[in-house]
Amino acid sequence: MTDQIPVRIIETVDPGRPIRLTPAQLGGPIHTRTFTGLFRNLRLLGAGALFVLFFGTAWLDWNGRQAVLWDLGRRQFHVFGATFWPQDFILLSALLIIAAFGLFFVTVLAGRVWCGYACPQSTWTWVFMWAEKVTEGDRLQRIKLDAAPWTLHKLLRRGAKHALWLAVSLATALAFVGYFTPIRELVRELFTLQLGLQTGFWLFFFTAATYVNAGWLREQVCLHMCPYSRFQSVMFDADTLVVSYDAARGESRGPRRRDSDPRAQGLGDCIDCTMCVQVCPTGIDIRDGLQLDCISCGACVDACDSVMDRMGYARGLVRYTSERTLQGGRTRLLRPRLVGYAAMLALMVGTFAWALQARPLVSLDVTRDRTLFRENSAGQIENMYSLKVINKTQQPREYRLALTDGPFELHGPSRLALAPGEIADVPLSVALVDEGAPASRRDLGFVVSDRADPASRVVTASTFVAPATR
Ligand code: SF4
Ligand code: SF4
Repeated sequence: MTDQIPVRIIETVDPGRPIRLTPAQLGGPIHTRTFTGLFRNLRLLGAGALFVLFFGTAWLDWNGRQAVLWDLGRRQFHVFGATFWPQDFILLSALLIIAAFGLFFVTVLAGRVWCGYACPQSTWTWVFMWAEKVTEGDRLQRIKLDAAPWTLHKLLRRGAKHALWLAVSLATALAFVGYFTPIRELVRELFTLQLGLQTGFWLFFFTAATYVNAGWLREQVCLHMCPYSRFQSVMFDADTLVVSYDAARGESRGPRRRDSDPRAQGLGDCIDCTMCVQVCPTGIDIRDGLQLDCISCGACVDACDSVMDRMGYARGLVRYTSERTLQGGRTRLLRPRLVGYAAMLALMVGTFAWALQARPLVSLDVTRDRTLFRENSAGQIENMYSLKVINKTQQPREYRLALTDGPFELHGPSRLALAPGEIADVPLSVALVDEGAPASRRDLGFVVSDRADPASRVVTASTFVAPATR
């Protein structure tokens, strides 16, 4: 019915059922077979969305500037009209923590679906596999080509594959580096051979990284380099959805005629066609049970379902299910750990959204001059300060500088006009106007407020030093 995977019989425990080494165990390149099905379509949808997001966003403009750009030189991160500064990077850390929690939640619910459907490593690997199929043919043709001696035909096909891989890698690197260097300039510099050394290095680095990771390393990254694959299994519980082979239904496996009665032959529903193994991107046999190498991509589910259709059997011999269901129970979706993660996630997302909108769009740093104090011409005690004010918006702003209530008087500019993203250093002095009780050190606060939006106001605390007695 189907071509078989390369077989090496190592032992026979049951006459008629040789133990086969899987492509992963054989150690050579894994040539996956083409297949169709629901989960393949879902993956195409996920990969398509990821590609549009990744390549499209780099070229998008917003209010006359690139919509998403990490301006490393000026240490600013622009995202759709908002500018983030190093002081805001706590928000970025919070976002990463939320993403990690989101991943935990999804893993407890549905195992490694992130790996199979949305991880860039798997997504780019699928694209590279497609390039392989377009240039070298389907699985059997590729296996034959591997074994064939070097001829012009082989050279041309291999060359076309690597050229396509490199083209995808270069496009990926351009889009990635384009998030750090304005992408239009980058492309122009590349095609006019005017790339700077540093930009050229990063472009080369990310092209090579994509080419090696998606072209050569592939599942090895998932198995040996990705930390997530190491710890995700500890998050699984008996209700986590994983891709499983229903051994109770499938065994004993074995070939049979389509119109025969398998039960009369003592057979289960698995016809041992190895289609599930041939489509697996990590080269494992799902019938061996849940394995660390399984990225939950559902390829074997699609492959087996199409075999079941052809045999006239019910679908789902290989399916997304939980250990509890396979043991005759019912999968519990609402369970304490999952609810806990969901509640935590909702709380974190809410807090993040609040922090984002409450983020001050002006920043004020105050440095007191090292001189302790001095007496001015009016006989008042004065301290010197240097204010650093940053307009964190993408519009010109006018600010008011003032002090919080206290026995002080500000001597210096009280208004400040700043261009978008401008940083101003403002030297000024503060005089003590009412000495009150003797004290050598007093607290005071500097205030900067947006004249057009007084609610946008930042207060920074400092100290004032005076002689204890006069
Ligand atoms: S066993 Fe199935 S779900 Fe797991 S990686 Fe292989 S094809 Fe994907
Ligand atoms: S599980 Fe399905 S696809 Fe895999 S060998 Fe058995 S019948 Fe074929």
